[in-house]
Amino acid sequence: MEQKGWHILSTREVLDSLQSGTEGLTNAEAERRLVQNGPNKLEEGKRKTLFSIFLTQFADLMIWVLIAAAAISGVLGEWVDSAIIAVVILLNAILGTIQESKAEAALEALKQMAAPTARVLRDGAVAKVAAADLVVGDVVLLEAGDSIPADLRLIESASLKVEESALTGESVPVEKISDSLDDPEAALGDRLNMTHMGTNVTYGRGSGVVIATGMNTQMGAIAGQLASTRKEITPLQRKLNQISNVISVGVICIAAVIFGIGLLGGREPLEMFLTAVSLAVAAIPEGMVAVVTIVLAMGMSRMAGRGAIIRRLPAVETLGSTQVICSDKTGTLTQNRMTVKKIWSEDTELLCDAMGHCNDSKLDENNKPLGDPTETALIDYILKEQHWSAEEVRLRKRMGEIPFDSERKLSTVAVEHPSGEGMRIFVKGAPDVLLNRCVQEHRSGGGAVPLDAERRLEIEKVNEEMAKQALRVLAFAYKDAPAADFTDAGAVESQLTFCGLAGMIDPSRPEAREAIDVCRHAGILPVMITGDHKITAVAIAEDLGILSDGRKALLGAELEKMSEEDLDRQVDRIGVYARVAPEHKTRIVAAWQKRGQVVAMTGDGVNDAPALKAADIGVGMGITGTDVSKGASDMVLTDDNFATIVTAVKEGRRIFNNIHKTVRFLLSCNAGEVLAILTATMAGWHLLAPIHILWINLVTDAFPALALGVEPAEKDIMDRKPRDSKLPFFTGRDWRSIVIVGAAEAILTLAAYVLGGKGIVGTTMAFLTLSLAQLFACIGFQSERHSIFSIKVKEHPMLWLAFFGSAMLQIMVMIIPPVRNLFGLVPLDAVQWLTILGLCLVMLGFIEVQKWIARLRHSN
Ligand code: ATP
Repeated sequence: MEQKGWHILSTREVLDSLQSGTEGLTNAEAERRLVQNGPNKLEEGKRKTLFSIFLTQFADLMIWVLIAAAAISGVLGEWVDSAIIAVVILLNAILGTIQESKAEAALEALKQMAAPTARVLRDGAVAKVAAADLVVGDVVLLEAGDSIPADLRLIESASLKVEESALTGESVPVEKISDSLDDPEAALGDRLNMTHMGTNVTYGRGSGVVIATGMNTQMGAIAGQLASTRKEITPLQRKLNQISNVISVGVICIAAVIFGIGLLGGREPLEMFLTAVSLAVAAIPEGMVAVVTIVLAMGMSRMAGRGAIIRRLPAVETLGSTQVICSDKTGTLTQNRMTVKKIWSEDTELLCDAMGHCNDSKLDENNKPLGDPTETALIDYILKEQHWSAEEVRLRKRMGEIPFDSERKLSTVAVEHPSGEGMRIFVKGAPDVLLNRCVQEHRSGGGAVPLDAERRLEIEKVNEEMAKQALRVLAFAYKDAPAADFTDAGAVESQLTFCGLAGMIDPSRPEAREAIDVCRHAGILPVMITGDHKITAVAIAEDLGILSDGRKALLGAELEKMSEEDLDRQVDRIGVYARVAPEHKTRIVAAWQKRGQVVAMTGDGVNDAPALKAADIGVGMGITGTDVSKGASDMVLTDDNFATIVTAVKEGRRIFNNIHKTVRFLLSCNAGEVLAILTATMAGWHLLAPIHILWINLVTDAFPALALGVEPAEKDIMDRKPRDSKLPFFTGRDWRSIVIVGAAEAILTLAAYVLGGKGIVGTTMAFLTLSLAQLFACIGFQSERHSIFSIKVKEHPMLWLAFFGSAMLQIMVMIIPPVRNLFGLVPLDAVQWLTILGLCLVMLGFIEVQKWIARLRHSN
C-alpha cells in the first residue's frame, strides 16, 4: 500500500488492510512475516572484515620505512636481515589484527545486549519482543518513555505525546490522536495519528499498529546519513595518541642523531640506517593505543558480565574517578518488591475499589498481576483479601484516565458510576499532594463530610506514622461527575473526597548496604534521590547507612526555594532528597560539578533524561528504565541494582590502573632501548644489531603489556580516594620514573656488554639482559604501590604466563643453534647466564626500591 494513505484511513481500515486486528497478530503469523520481510532494523555500515583490519595495520609510516629497510637489505644481499625484518613486520600486523578484531567483537556483542525491545500483542496477550522482530501488522503498546520501534498508525491514544525532533526537528512534544485525518497531503509533522521509528513518547499511553519496519520506515528513508557508525574515541585514547605522537617525533630525532653519530664514527651507512630505523620502530609506541583499546573493550565485556552495560566507551574511564553517586531509591537501593502492609480507611470496600480501578496492572493467565510494582501490590492486596475476584479485575473498563507522572505524583481513572449514570473518578497518589486536592472525607455508611484542618492533621499524622516504619504510602480519593475533560488534570484532580491510605513495604537491598559501606571506604559519597515521602526516605536511608555521616534530608520543595549559591554551598551536607521532581536532579548534578566532582546519577523516567545527560556518568535502569532514559545514559544496569554501580566503579578503577601500568611499562622499555643504543653509538660500541632491537620489541611489547592490562584489581583499590579527574594521565613523577627505569635498563644492558668483553659475547649478553630485564620490570610493575612480596602468585596467572612465555621465546633463540646463528649470537657459559640473571634481579630490586620510597613518601 502507498505509504501516504495510512493517516486518512480509519483504524479499522488500516487493521483490515494489514490483515491484523485489535488483538494483534498470532505468533505464527508474526514469524511468517518476519521471515518474509526481514528484521525491523536499519542497515548499518559494513562490518570490517579480518582482512581489512589486517590491511589497516600497514597504514603506518614506520611500517613502510621498515618495509623499505627490508627491501634495501635484500637488494644489498643481506638476506637474513631482510627475512627477519619481514617476519617481524608480519608478526606485528598479525598481533595487531588479533587485538583489534577482539576489541571489535567485544563492542559488537555489547551493542547486541543493549538492543531495544517493544511490547506487542501476540496471540492476544502482551509480549515483550526484540524491536528487530516487529513485523507489519503487529500491535505495539506505548507508554511514556518508550522509543517508537517502527512506524505506527495509532489505534488508541490516552493523552499520548510524542517528541519527534529526530524526524521533524521540532523538540516540543506533539499530542497524538487515533482518529483519521482528512488531508491526504499532510506533512509528516502533521500526521497526528501516526508515530515514527526513532521518536519518543514523553507522556501518556497508547497503542498503534505497525505499518512499516526497517528500511521502509521514515527513519529508513534518511538512514543513509546514519549508516556509517562513527567510532568514538575516548579522552584517554586521545591523550595517549597525543603522547604517542610527541614521543614519535622525539624518537625519530634521536634515531637521526644516532644515524649521524654512527656515520661520523666511521660505521657502515647501511648498518647505521637499519639500526636507526629499527630503533624508531621499536621505540615508537604505536602499539600503546591498540593495547589501551583492547583493555577498555575487555573491561567493558567484564562489566557487562557483572550487570553494567557500558553504552559509551569514555564512561569506562570516567567511572574510575566517580566521587558522588546519586541514586534513586525505589528499585535501586530497595528491592522494588512492594507489599501492602497496612490500610487505613473508614470504608474498606470503597478504598479497595479505588485500588482496583485506579490501576494499570493486568493479570496474566495465572492471575498474577503484571506491571509497576506499586500498582501490582495493590491488586495483590485486593485479591488476597478477597475484596475483588480475578474476574472483576479482568472486566474493569475505564471511561477516562490521566496517567501517573512523577511531576504530579498522581494518577486518575474514571469508571462508570455504580448507579449507571455519569462517572466515578478515582485518584491515587502521594498523600501530601492528594490531601491538598481533597475537600471532603468519605465516611462509613456512604456519607461525605467536609475535611477540616484538624482532621487533615490527623490524617497527616497517620501518614507519618506509616512512613516512619519505612512504608511507602499512597492516598486515595474519588469524586462523582456526569462527565470530565481529561486533558485538564488540574480540574479533574480537585474537589476530591478522601477515602483512605495504603502503606506498602519495599525492603532495602541487603547488597546495597554493603555497597554503601564500600563507597565510604572508597571516598565516594552516596546520595539518595527519591520521589517518596521524606520520612519514608530517611527511614530507609538510615537503614542503609547513607546518613551515618550526619548529612541531612532535604525536600524537593525546599530545594525549589534555595538559590543556586545556597545549594552549591550546602550540597555536601545533604544525603537524601525527598519528594523531588526529575528536574531537581539536574540542579543537584550541576551543584556537584561546580565543585569539580565527578557525579554518577541514576534515572529511569522519561523526564530523567536531562539529568542523565548532564551527569558525568548517567546510569540507566535495564529493567524498569524507559527507552528514553536508557538512550540518555552512559551505562545501563541489567539488574537495576545500586551495588552494581559500585562494582562498575571498582572495575573502572581497575581498568584505569592497568592502563596506567601498561603504558608506564611500555614507555620505560622504549626509553631503555633508546638510551642504550644512543649511549653505545656515542661510545662507538656495536651493542645490538637491528634485528635484535626488533625482536626484543616484539617479545616484550606484546604479551607482558597485555598481561598488565588484564591484571586483577589490587586488593585495596576500593580503600583509596577517587583519582582526581583533573590530574593529567601521567604526572611529573610518572615521567621521571619512566626515564629513571629506562636509564636503569640501559645501564644494565651496557654493563652486560662490557662484562661480556664488548665483542660478540657482549652483544649476546646485552641482548638477553635488555629483554629479560624488561620482563622482570613487568613483574615489578604489577603494582604501582605494593611490593612484589605482598602479591599472591596464583592470583596473577596471565602475568606469569606472559613472563615465562616471553622468557622462553627469548631463551629459545639461544638454545636452538640455527636460530642463534641467524641472530648472530654465541652460546654462553653458566657464569655469564648467572651474570645476566643477577643484572635482571638488580632491575627488579631497583623498581621495588622506587616503590618503597614512594610508599614512605605517601605515608608521611
Ligand atoms: P524513586 O524516585 O526513588 O524511584 P519513587 O518511585 O517513589 O522513588 P516516583 O515514581 O516519582 O518516585 O513517585 C513519587 C510518588 O508518587 C511516590 O512516593 C508515590 O507517593 C506516588 N506514586 C508512585 N507511583 C504511583 C502510581 N502508580 N500512582 C499514583 N501515585 C504514585
